[in-house]
Amino acid sequence: MIKFENVQKIYPNGHVGLKDINVEIQQGEFVAIIGLSGAGKSTLLRCVNKMHDITGGSLTVNDTDVASLKGKEVRKFRRKIGMIFQSFNLITRGTVLKNVLVSAVPELSWWRRLLAIFPEEAKIASLQALDNVGILDKAYIRVDQLSGGQQQRVALARTLVGNPDIILADEPVAALDPVTAKLVMEDFKRINQELDISILLNIHHVDLALEYADRIIGIRKGEIVYDGSTENVSQDI
Ligand code: ADP
Ligand code: ADP
Repeated sequence: MIKFENVQKIYPNGHVGLKDINVEIQQGEFVAIIGLSGAGKSTLLRCVNKMHDITGGSLTVNDTDVASLKGKEVRKFRRKIGMIFQSFNLITRGTVLKNVLVSAVPELSWWRRLLAIFPEEAKIASLQALDNVGILDKAYIRVDQLSGGQQQRVALARTLVGNPDIILADEPVAALDPVTAKLVMEDFKRINQELDISILLNIHHVDLALEYADRIIGIRKGEIVYDGSTENVSQDI
């Protein structure tokens, strides 16, 4: 479903993000990308949903040539790809439910959104997504009153409500304490297994990657130095 062929990403200032990436990820896989800071993990992830444009090679996602997408097509393409960040990117003064609802109906007019007029089915889908990540009881609480782990679960629910095929997560547990980080990784695992959503995440905690992912991709200086099971990963990626 995701296919990198000789992909290169050189930033406008000449920095090499990715050198010659060849990798294929199938529907339903749980892949962790590991590597030192500056290795190219975030660049690789951001090429998949076209937050960054590749500068060489070809990248296809669900048989779509990502480089050829323009304007509206990009928005439509991204609906099937959820993105989670380290910093959650939530409306912190809104309720948990509101945050999820806004994603449930992305095409809702601005004034309906302002007046909080959401279709009933969107409400049901949003509550279901909150239930999937175990925070249904927090639906009417303001996001800024939640813990970091709970906020990351809101971000996950917001992504889930769009029925994505893939979830990309850029260091989703980096800002969390070790216990909470494990809980969030368990959410990813459950979502991957029960909803058959592919997960592609960057993580600098190798131990968490090995515990929860099925496949590890190791990157160093923009190149893949390991791609395989969790069993033979060496420590010097
Ligand atoms: P990682 O996620 O593994 O920490 P990144 O993908 O963020 O690594 O970065 C890979 C390389 O690309 C680094 O050398 C970084 O400095 C460079 N880089 C990342 N983003 C940009 C950018 N917007 N402009 C220029 N260089 C960048
Ligand atoms: P993250 O890992 O969340 O991308 P970073 O601190 O690595 O956080 O990067 C923050 C932003 O700065 C990103 O948009 C990244 O693309 C950009 N960036 C990273 N390295 C460079 C660089 N060397 N030159 C210019 N922009 C960069």
